[in-house]
Amino acid sequence: MLNLLLFGPPGSGKGTQSELLADHYGLEHISTGDLLREEVAKGTELSHDIEALISVGKLVPDHLILDLLFKHINQMGNKKGLILDGFPRTYRQAEELVKEFNTRQWPIPLLVALDVEEEELLQRLLERGKISGRSDDHEETIRGRFKVYHEQSEPVIQYFKESHSPMIEIEGVGAIEEVTENLVRGIDQFISETTI
Ligand code: AMP
Repeated sequence: MLNLLLFGPPGSGKGTQSELLADHYGLEHISTGDLLREEVAKGTELSHDIEALISVGKLVPDHLILDLLFKHINQMGNKKGLILDGFPRTYRQAEELVKEFNTRQWPIPLLVALDVEEEELLQRLLERGKISGRSDDHEETIRGRFKVYHEQSEPVIQYFKESHSPMIEIEGVGAIEEVTENLVRGIDQFISETTI
């Protein structure tokens, strides 16, 4: 079983690259942003609160996303491996994820961090906003999402360092195919080192 966590700031290409990597390695792609947007579309009791947080670029509470994610994982069939896109996004989510994987006796996931400069990210997200119709793809919210990323999500890297969990950093600038090649190279190297 191979488990990957695609990590990076908003606009770093997590969604696009996760889909390509899921195809390449035959993994189940789970985007927590998509899970939340589906929840909003269902019009459940929580929809209103979730939409209110997403539209201002804030994170939903840890317990809510953990619950939603593990329910989703439990419903899935045979698992060759997972690629999580947009999770973990806080120190606590990272801790809980590793704990849960240990309990299930699943291999510790590899954190794959995409590195892209903020100015480039802003331009990408403004372009995406013209076509995505996403309520959170406009400048004020994008700046807020960067702040949330630095304050709440970057500590995930600290968690992986402290706990000596596997992590690679990949340059996320360039053509989509180039970035995918860099990712595959880094992940293949990790696989070969862990299967010796
Ligand atoms: P994304 O599609 O990954 O950019 O996520 C869109 C929005 O969904 C984020 O800005 C957060 O408001 C929310 N979200 C997605 N994943 C998480 C997570 N792991 N923890 C908390 N909130 C999340």
